[in-house]
Amino acid sequence: MKTYLNLKEEVWDRNICSGCGACVAVCPVDNIYFKEESPIKFLCNQCACTIEPVEDIEHPVSAEFCKTVLYDVRCGACYDACPRTEESHIPEVDSPLGRILKMFRARAKIPVKNAQHGGVVTAVLANAFEEELIDGALVIMEDRWTLEPESYLATSKEEVIKSAGSKYQWNVPILKALKDAVMNRKLKKIAVVGTPCVMNAICEILTSNNDLLRPFQRAIRLKIGLFCFETYDYDKMIKILEEKGIEPWKVEKMLITKGELKIILINGDTVKLKLKDIEDAVRTGCKVCRDFTGVTADISVGNVGSPPEYSTVLVRTSWGEGFIERAYRNNYISIEEGVDLDAIKKLAELKSKRAYKYYHSSTKRW
Ligand SMILES: Cc1cc2nc3c(=O)[nH]c(=O)nc-3n(C[C@H](O)[C@H](O)[C@H](O)COP(=O)(O)OP(=O)(O)OC[C@H]3O[C@@H](n4cnc5c(N)ncnc54)[C@H](O)[C@@H]3O)c2cc1C
Ligand code: SF4
Ligand code: SF4
Repeated sequence: MKTYLNLKEEVWDRNICSGCGACVAVCPVDNIYFKEESPIKFLCNQCACTIEPVEDIEHPVSAEFCKTVLYDVRCGACYDACPRTEESHIPEVDSPLGRILKMFRARAKIPVKNAQHGGVVTAVLANAFEEELIDGALVIMEDRWTLEPESYLATSKEEVIKSAGSKYQWNVPILKALKDAVMNRKLKKIAVVGTPCVMNAICEILTSNNDLLRPFQRAIRLKIGLFCFETYDYDKMIKILEEKGIEPWKVEKMLITKGELKIILINGDTVKLKLKDIEDAVRTGCKVCRDFTGVTADISVGNVGSPPEYSTVLVRTSWGEGFIERAYRNNYISIEEGVDLDAIKKLAELKSKRAYKYYHSSTKRW
């Protein structure tokens, strides 16, 4: 029986953890958690200087009360949910973009105030709530004052609309709210929105034979993957903003496009940072990641391949097609032909090349 000790050896100690939080969510005894120390949160109360965290770790840790290690109780849930172990089941696909049933560009036809692009992710979820196809959606909310993101379980159309927009800064395990949704709230029709690493964790859970993962398998209904090249450590990102004289509350929206991070401020100004200049803030686990579009999702959504105000949609499963079709028929989204697939392929290949550079020894598709 594998335990968190195997996870530690194969993932944490090799610095390949994506920070998805699946192991945290499925551990039945809450043995695994993320240390949330951050220099922003911990101010010395003597002289108000900033206390640096003891260590800069990007993976979870153990509270040392794993029941398998201590009492030989059958578990292994954390190991079986992790998509980055040597035994993970992520399916190999022939094309770097994975299986595509349909592709198009689309826009929300309902008002989505903070939509990142076409607002399609939000509109599809809003329709799913309206039709009671889902009873919960794992999304990311953001503290508009500090820009601190939070894993959030939305249970209504209104909440999902409030969560629109991309949060590039990582501070929380995205799947953290999954435990609450399944084990405490007993929701049975959950949609998960997430980056490709999160989609892979869900795929890992759904294809596992571990009985402890059954409640999660039964509850997850829809996987919406977001295109993703990388995410940025929250503290490092805030430091970069501060160096540019930008306080977090002044930021209206962040946008990654054409090799730049565009920071749109509430006064209408835009500050542009070259992605290579903020490379140090990229999370280590992202550098070994090869999947740009989320090949294991039901629907993948990004912007590359379409004009800025549209979302590019890749439908991968008939299940995903059902959710899109219903949103379209109910006038929640509009759909148009014309996606530049080569542009998507180019970025997918670039990401794959970077992963090989950082992690030559692996043949895994993460
Ligand atoms: C870290 C990151 C990197 C990305 N990189 C690219 C890229 O390089 N190229 C590209 O074309 N597209 C990229 N995207 C996707 C793009 O930013 C939009 O999310 C996508 O186009 C959908 O737009 P929308 O208007 O339909 O979404 P919206 O309707 O605005 O909905 C977005 C949904 O995503 C959720 N969300 C936001 N941030 C996160 C997060 N970090 N993890 C999980 N869920 C989240 C929100 O809560 C909301 O439900 C990235 C997204 C993220 C989060
Ligand atoms: S990749 Fe995800 S599941 Fe694996 S150790 Fe990291 S946080 Fe846990
Ligand atoms: S680059 Fe990969 S590991 Fe990093 S957030 Fe995106 S999908 Fe996850």
